[in-house]
This record gives sequence, C-alpha cells and structure tokens, in this order.
Amino acid sequence: MIQVVLVGATGSIGRSTLAVLRGLGPDARLLGVFAGSRAEPLARIASEWDVRYAGLASDEQLPALRTALPNVRTGAGAEILQEAIRDPDTDVVVSAAAGTAGLPASLEAVRQGKTLALANKESLVVLGPLLLAEARKTGARILPVDSEHSAIFQCLRAGRPGEVRRVVLTASGGPFRTWSREQMARATPADALRHPTWSMGPKITVDSATLMNKALEIVEARWLFDLRPEQIDVVVHPQSMVHSMVEFVDGSVVAQMGPPDMELPIQYALTYPERRKADRPGFRTEDFSALTFEDPDRERFPALGLGEQAARAGGTAGAVLNAANEVAVQRFLDGEIPFPAIADTVASVLEDTGLIADPTIEQIYEADRTAREDATRCRT
Ligand code: NAD
Ligand code: MG
Repeated sequence: MIQVVLVGATGSIGRSTLAVLRGLGPDARLLGVFAGSRAEPLARIASEWDVRYAGLASDEQLPALRTALPNVRTGAGAEILQEAIRDPDTDVVVSAAAGTAGLPASLEAVRQGKTLALANKESLVVLGPLLLAEARKTGARILPVDSEHSAIFQCLRAGRPGEVRRVVLTASGGPFRTWSREQMARATPADALRHPTWSMGPKITVDSATLMNKALEIVEARWLFDLRPEQIDVVVHPQSMVHSMVEFVDGSVVAQMGPPDMELPIQYALTYPERRKADRPGFRTEDFSALTFEDPDRERFPALGLGEQAARAGGTAGAVLNAANEVAVQRFLDGEIPFPAIADTVASVLEDTGLIADPTIEQIYEADRTAREDATRCRT
C-alpha cells in the first residue's frame, strides 16, 4: 500500500490526485492533506478521506479547521507539515502547492528520504542542484508529475543516459499562440486565463500564455535529467497529445502520448516503477488524426529565451526568474501592468541582478526576496 501526504490538496493537481487515489482503491491511503488558507474545502477532503493530518499554511482559519476535524491532528505552518512528512508511514509526498509556497514540502520530503512526486516545478527551478544533492544524501526519489517531464521520464526508459541526444518539450502555445504583439498588448487577465487544452490553477495558466511555463520547464528539465541546456528544445504542439519526446544519438525519437489528463502522470509517479491498470483512453484514431508541430516565435514570446538564459546561468538565476515572474504575474492579474510587461519585468530583473554561481539555500532565499522587491518596483 502507498501512503500519501498531499500538499496543495484543494487545487487542480490536488483534485486530480484524489481522483487517482480513488482509482487505486485499497492500494493507496491518504495520510495527510495541506492547503493554503481556507479551512472549509480542506476539512471536507480530510473528513472524506479520514486522514491523520490536516494543515493550512496560514493560521486565520485554523480554529475553523480544528472545530471541523476534532479527531485529526491539525495545525498551521511548517511544524504540522513536517510532522506529517516525517511520519514513518508516509511513503510519498505529492508536492502540488502553487509557486514558491511549494518549496518547504519538497525540501522536507527529500530530507526525510521520502519519494517526492513533484508537481511544484518551482522547487527545482529555484533550488535546482541543492534539492538533488539533498535527495542523493538520503536516497529520496524525485519523480516528475509535470506532464512533459513525466513524458521524458517515461521515454528515457528506452535508452541509456549517455545515448540521449536531446529532449524536446512540447508546448500548447497557450491562448495567444496566433495573436499579434499588438493584440497581446491589450490582452486582459480573462483572455490569459482561457487555456485551450489544459484546466489548471491561475498562476500556471498565465505562465502558459507567456510561455514562461515552458521557460520554467526548461530549467526543471535541466536539473531533473542532468542535461546540458543546449540539449533541451521546445516545440509548439497545439493539440497537447504528444507530451514530450526524447531523441537518441542514433536519431530515434521516442514520444509519450495521450489525451491531456494530469491523472496519468500523477498515477505513474505514485505507482512507479509499476504501471497500474486504469480505465483511460489510449490511442484513438480521431484524437491523433491531425497533430501539428511548429517552432515557437521567440519574438512574440520572449519568456522562452529567459528560461534558456536561466538554465545556462544556473546558480541563483532560476530563483530570480521564478520570483520576478510570480510578482509580475500577480501584477498583471491585478490590472497593474499589461501582458507583455510580465516578460519585460522578468528580463529587466534578471539583467540587473548579480548572480551567484554556487549558492547556499540562504543565498537562494535572499535572491528570491530581492528579485521580488525589484519586480514590484520595476517600471518597464
Ligand atoms: P492551484 O492554484 O489550482 O492550487 C494550489 C494549491 O496550493 C491549493 O490547494 C492551495 O490551497 C495550495 N497552497 C497555496 N499555498 C500553500 C502553502 N503555502 N502550503 C500548502 N499549500 C498551499 O495550482 P495547480 O494548478 O494545482 O498547480 C500546483 C503546482 O503544480 C504548481 O507548481 C504548478 O506549476 C504545478 N503543475 C500544475 C499542473 C496543472 O495541470 N494544474 C500541471 C503541471 C504542473
Ligand atoms: Mg507542464
């Protein structure tokens, strides 16, 4: 039986994880659930699943959580999260909070030698080699939930590490794939939140519109698969049926495919190295009859180049990229800056920040703080 702590239980990945656990039936048990600030939706999940732990990140609604769950260990903040992850029964931590808020759970999971099912790509973008070094120390496994990285992870089983020529990340292109620069300059938050193929939380949905999501995924892939930055390419594939590809040294291209559905990569991370039976469609001619691929337009989507830049620079560059972007996305959603200013803000903060090549965790958190301040003040 797989015993799971789910961080970000009330979000989009959280909901898909619950659906996967339902499908796994008695082979899986939900041990703990964590969310940001709202007690009611978390309490509902905690009661339904009869969990041992339930925690919020902030304490305003902790009294309500306590009242709703008298027989569950409840709390707010880092301590209860650590307690749940450290529980000897915990096998897997699904890290699916949005943004930098997801880092503590990922770090604690690898420090405790647990399997980390990683949806929170920010953990790898920001902490990079430090997260991997912690995992090496304890023997923790980091398994990707991000669909592109799960695809690459699956494709890599077709060859040896030295036999990889490059990986090709697919991108849907987002809602503005065919928009001109002028149209994008007038894009509203509602426009950016209308993703053509995936239903996700608001932050990652805006990132899909700027292609910053792909930029973050380039950095994520660099660390997770120990690739050189020039081994990572991006192709726009609007149907989101091919989830990514690995090209081997002999020219063979192995792809992982299927209808867009996060439950598959989540299930694979939970049951790896096994594949469990599930009632999901596989190949259907009508789904695959018109797949198209095109090179991304780097002028309309400058975020992509920023991701490549951060992947090449390493060190604190990922933290700066991610922090500046989080602030810029929020400013766009608040109606404070226009859509193209998101990438402009990130570019300007990256440009103005002195990077540290081999940082400590404290230096990474400091880079994150400074980049947030700079992005808040930035007038592009
Ligand atoms: P979401 O906004 O739908 O959900 C976020 C969840 O995190 C909520 O449950 C929220 O309560 C919780 N949360 C917020 N702050 C928290 C904190 N400090 N501690 C614990 N929980 C906290 O986001 P999402 O779309 O589910 O994305 C979650 C993560 O997964 C992101 O890192 C995203 O990039 C990644 N991801 C998502 C998808 C997808 O399809 N949604 C795909 C690939 C990767
Ligand atoms: Mg992805």
